[in-house]
Amino acid sequence: MIISLDLDGVLARLVSEFAQFMNLKYNLNLDPKKWRSIEEALNLKRREADKRVFEFYQENGVKKIKPVDGSIEAVKELIKMGNRVIVLTSRSKLVENETREWLQIYFPDIKEILITDYEKNGRKFDYCKELRVDFHVDDYSKHAIGIAEQGIEVIMLNQPWNLHEEINHPKIQRAKDWNEIVQILKARAS
Ligand SMILES: [Mg+2]
Repeated sequence: MIISLDLDGVLARLVSEFAQFMNLKYNLNLDPKKWRSIEEALNLKRREADKRVFEFYQENGVKKIKPVDGSIEAVKELIKMGNRVIVLTSRSKLVENETREWLQIYFPDIKEILITDYEKNGRKFDYCKELRVDFHVDDYSKHAIGIAEQGIEVIMLNQPWNLHEEINHPKIQRAKDWNEIVQILKARAS
């Protein structure tokens, strides 16, 4: 199978690292467990919130970001099973090199990394369609729905910022952690 994986919130724990950075820099008291989105947490419009994320990338870099629990072993297993695994992220191209280095450190078996054009942020589904992806894993409901609408199966990894969203789409199923993601994919492969 062809499986595409979102990066932030699925493989990389961007949000917790970002919250720490913001709390230190702006003397805030952000708790990512209560976030619905970065925009809402900061009470900023999307563009302004994105600027804060750029600040984070520029000043903090991406090196200190930790992988999501269980993701390293899970990705190894998916590749061992013979799946083609592609990282599909809308992370800023400003940090493309660092992002590739980060992936090389934690997920050296992943050979395909696609950074979607930032201006086409909402159109991850175009990439999935073109790549003929069988399964996509994401933590962001807008991407999950857009991709599911193309008839592609989507696994939404539960994260504090998506738990409040009720999603009823026949192509979208939730997983509580990486173990469950692997179980779903194994069941489908056999
Ligand atoms: Mg994400």
